[in-house]
Amino acid sequence: MLMAPQRFRERMQALLGDEAEAFFAALAQPPRIGLRVNTLKIAVDDFRARAAFPLEPVPWCDEGFILAPDADIQPGKHPYHAAGLYYLQEPSAMAAAALLDPQPGELILDLAAAPGGKATHLAARMENEGLLVVNEVVRGRVHALIENMARVGARQALIMNASPSALAEAWRERFDKVMLDAPCSAEGMFRKSAAARREWSEATVLGCAARQINILEDAARLVRPGGLLLYATCTFAPEENEAVVARFLAQHPEFMLIEPLRAPGLDHGRPDWVEGDLAGRFPLERCVRIWPHRSAGEGHFFALMEKDGLAAAYPLPAVRRGLPKAAKKPVTAFWERVFTGSPPQKGWALYGQWVHLLPVSPGFWREIKPTRAGLRVGKLTHHRFEPHHALALAGFSSRPENSLNLPAESEEARRYLHGEPLAAAGEDGWVLVQVDGFGLGWGKRVGGVVKNHYPRGLRWQGPL
Ligand code: SAM
Repeated sequence: MLMAPQRFRERMQALLGDEAEAFFAALAQPPRIGLRVNTLKIAVDDFRARAAFPLEPVPWCDEGFILAPDADIQPGKHPYHAAGLYYLQEPSAMAAAALLDPQPGELILDLAAAPGGKATHLAARMENEGLLVVNEVVRGRVHALIENMARVGARQALIMNASPSALAEAWRERFDKVMLDAPCSAEGMFRKSAAARREWSEATVLGCAARQINILEDAARLVRPGGLLLYATCTFAPEENEAVVARFLAQHPEFMLIEPLRAPGLDHGRPDWVEGDLAGRFPLERCVRIWPHRSAGEGHFFALMEKDGLAAAYPLPAVRRGLPKAAKKPVTAFWERVFTGSPPQKGWALYGQWVHLLPVSPGFWREIKPTRAGLRVGKLTHHRFEPHHALALAGFSSRPENSLNLPAESEEARRYLHGEPLAAAGEDGWVLVQVDGFGLGWGKRVGGVVKNHYPRGLRWQGPL
């Protein structure tokens, strides 16, 4: 039995009345595991044909699935996960990108992005075209965001570690679409997280609501006229949901709630839960609520708003730079050894020893610097080139003679992920290690032995 805080139970009982019993019964059930196919790397049907996972569809997300409860697999410990063919994401969270509906070529901002569940979904829907800016204000959470964006093969991204207000100063009215997945009291995560249950209090709810209003102010400034703003929380509390949206709309007549995608399990917002002078002023039924007793997901709330007016999309400045002189020879030699074709003609930059492929000219971020810009390709040391792990995952097609393609179910694939060397005849030098044709990491062959370059921090632990 789940030990939700007593005051939380009283509040939900008062809100839900007769429905509260079903709600508490659902909270007592274990959470379902969601899996989203990463369409940057593989089509949904192809994935389903290859991966013998028992999957049930998520009604609001074509690429989203729920793992059947009796599934006898550890989805976080499968080579396809390491290769970025899917992302483990709770089903309700998949509604965010489905509602914001990002398109290839757009300029999109995820303002509170770590560890990257929703950001990687936005990246996939954008098909690596346009620019996705993902921000996380807490420095200690940025690393996981960088890793996850790399794993899914997102190349058209800037990763930021800035406050929303600093971004709003620098990039006023620049974005076609902004997502704010706000820090919240996380009631919707009670089934998944003992910490969320422990840390909850009514004071936290009110504190979160005040913070959400502040961050929304910055989010609003970043949206271009005619652009969209998606506000999301993973909590049930009306103070952080409909009431925040009502307060925001009262201060911002330039925004209006729009009717979003509907699908079974995407319920309406509750205007009747807003009290005081804001009651009845806005069509809050257009918000979206997901309830654990009415669908297979955890608790979530969304409000999709459009900014009045019409401004042309911000013209993304292209990167004209070819490979910097110092990198030209070693990068070209490496590329032509491992990948089919030559390195891209344009888009290159050198930051210290790091070689990057940029999605947009650095002029875009003159006012505020990213932590990671575009794809980190590798590093130059003494005119030698060493590929970065992100390049193995970026989806460039490789030459068979310098790839080591391992079947997903093989012991060799598991040994590689544990950090062990592998025997494989062939020419000495860098080798792209793959699982069923999908890049997994790097190895360096010397005399028929491929030395393991899978990053230490990602290696699988425990028995093979
Ligand atoms: N969107 C993420 C995902 O799908 O993986 C989850 C984001 S989580 C709900 C909220 C994030 O807001 C956290 O990463 C947290 O560090 C960040 N945050 C906390 N305080 C913030 C603030 N004042 N402004 C912006 N973001 C904040």
